[in-house]
Amino acid sequence: MKTKALYSGSFDPLTMGHMNIICRAAKLYDELTIGVISNPAKEAMFSLEEREDMLKAALKDLKNVKVDHFSGLLADYVNRKGFDVVVRGLRATTDFEYEIQMAQMNARLFNESVETVFLMTDPQYSFLSSSMIKEVYSLGGCIDGLVPDEILKRMVR
Ligand code: ADP
Repeated sequence: MKTKALYSGSFDPLTMGHMNIICRAAKLYDELTIGVISNPAKEAMFSLEEREDMLKAALKDLKNVKVDHFSGLLADYVNRKGFDVVVRGLRATTDFEYEIQMAQMNARLFNESVETVFLMTDPQYSFLSSSMIKEVYSLGGCIDGLVPDEILKRMVR
């Protein structure tokens, strides 16, 4: 049976930290879906459509990866789509506090066999977050190598 995994986030914008987790998860599971969170209440740099387009462009060579979006409760989306695994990335111990709470709550909400799996960040990206990228870029700092080239081009535009 095929193992279907989900990796979700806002991806506003997609960073090399996200890319690293996606490439590694794509090797571990038969099918990986990138679930872009649609939250109209949260102000984003890129619209949902733009974020999905950017992900599709950046991930076009990964044949078992597809891009989707959802709103509302993650567990509802996971149960409805029949995912087996939810992949999360862990950067620092500060992520751990939040992630363990979330994973334990989700364990109550997910269908029985769904597991949350954590992949440790590649140390070269452990400081990297979308909000850090936005802040540095908006203040004129160089973000070369921290987001995929395709994303950088769109940010410049
Ligand atoms: P976004 O930054 O796109 O809003 P989130 O913060 O919701 O995304 O993160 C989505 C997932 O990606 C989370 O599991 C998060 O821990 C992980 N992640 C984000 N940045 C990195 C990174 N630099 N290295 C590893 N995992 C990361």
